[in-house]
Amino acid sequence: MDVITSYVHGAFVAPGDGRRSVHDPSDTTRVVGEWSPATELQAAQAAEAARAAFPIWDAWTAPARGQVLFKAATLLEQERDALARLASSEMGKPIGEMGGEVDRGIALLRYYAGEGTRAIGEVYPSTMADALLFSRRTGIGPVLLITPWNFPVAIPIWKMAPALVFGNTVVWKPAEWASLTAAHLARVVGAAGFPPGVLNVILGPGKSLGAGLTRHAAIRAISFTGSRSAGMSIAHGALETGAKFQLEMGGKNPAIVLEDADLDVAVERILSSAMRSAGQKCTATSRVIALPGVLARLREALVERTRTLKQGPALDESVYLGPVVSSAQRDSILAKVEAGVAEGGVVLTGAQGPRDLPPGHWVAPTLVDQVRPGGLLHTEELFGPVVALFSAATVQEAVALANAVPYGLSASLFTRDLDRALYYIWHMEAGLVRVNDESAGVEYQAPFGGVKESSWGWREQGRAAMEFYTETHTITVRPSR
Ligand code: ADP
Repeated sequence: MDVITSYVHGAFVAPGDGRRSVHDPSDTTRVVGEWSPATELQAAQAAEAARAAFPIWDAWTAPARGQVLFKAATLLEQERDALARLASSEMGKPIGEMGGEVDRGIALLRYYAGEGTRAIGEVYPSTMADALLFSRRTGIGPVLLITPWNFPVAIPIWKMAPALVFGNTVVWKPAEWASLTAAHLARVVGAAGFPPGVLNVILGPGKSLGAGLTRHAAIRAISFTGSRSAGMSIAHGALETGAKFQLEMGGKNPAIVLEDADLDVAVERILSSAMRSAGQKCTATSRVIALPGVLARLREALVERTRTLKQGPALDESVYLGPVVSSAQRDSILAKVEAGVAEGGVVLTGAQGPRDLPPGHWVAPTLVDQVRPGGLLHTEELFGPVVALFSAATVQEAVALANAVPYGLSASLFTRDLDRALYYIWHMEAGLVRVNDESAGVEYQAPFGGVKESSWGWREQGRAAMEFYTETHTITVRPSR
């Protein structure tokens, strides 16, 4: 089995510090591959390669950079199934969803390829009759992308594609749990025709290699998605060097259900956003807040439907949810459910691993009732297939309960009542505010990001990405005489 390594200056480097075996989270007896973390020297070489390549890439026209991204999309299309299977085996996302994620990656590459031919500035009326006054955007320099394992293809692409098309060079530090997938993606995208050093991938631990890159003088901007604690540490590093940074962190996303909601629709959409990907999405629903007129019916319907959800190996096309990514993650989720029960929560279904499955990191889809407002299951992100149920007397009380957490990424409301929907839209503290839609999932052409402790800095995706990945120059030109 070939050992997978980092990608620097257009080539895969020699193995670095040791070897890591990847065990399939759906069946830990199965070894998926082996990779080697980069050395500190290799990480520094990646930053230097990105620095050296910046003037070269920046000198390309934006439409020409876009053509390379179009080519990358075509190459990724050819590798769709192979990459999806590898990612499912490495981090446990069911193959159906993972294939959809690669499709999303292809669409993102094409969308940002198109950005290469769209406007990068505006013309302003000057107060001087003879002056031409306009703005123009350019790339910033080498950017560091630090990504999590839960969307091992879509998140890296929604960062690297805009970074590249606007003329930046990239050092990408993927999550350790998605290293094989990252190297495969680098191989595919890297073959599209970038000059060496434009795209570099450093495999390895965040706390050492990632933190070191964060403080590297060559890095001019950092885009991060992951935990709150890592995000804060990256923010400190960026402040030391003056790099621009954006952070996407946790969520504790509510779904509010009013009595007039279509219950079947609400149950399907709540469970889809709570249980698919085993709840490991920052936009997953993890709290359900229902009004008294619907609470009992909703509780019963959720329990009944949850018990029918098929859980199994990620490569099985028919499963609704797979395992969680690691044993540490499973233990953490189960410990938090236990702590929630100690606070008075009552498990309606789930909590333990399902039976009759291969040895993997299983957490059954779990519903917990009578959760104490302000308690652990109300405020803490578990990142697993766990939903806590609450009741609230009115939509005002429900929104207040929904807002009583540090995070504010995504939220759902299920109702047919326009007035109460508007109350929720105006008062919900969330970056993504949905009515009769699930909290999970994003549309790449629209801005993505949260409020409060969920995010810091610029929005991602759509045209918003241009704000982060470019600097604006304001230009005045007057006649010479
Ligand atoms: P998760 O629990 O989703 O793995 P983390 O925040 O730990 O969330 O990891 C997200 C990404 O951030 C990973 O690529 C990880 O290696 C990286 N990372 C973690 N800690 C740091 C840090 N202190 N500095 C830089 N990168 C980090």
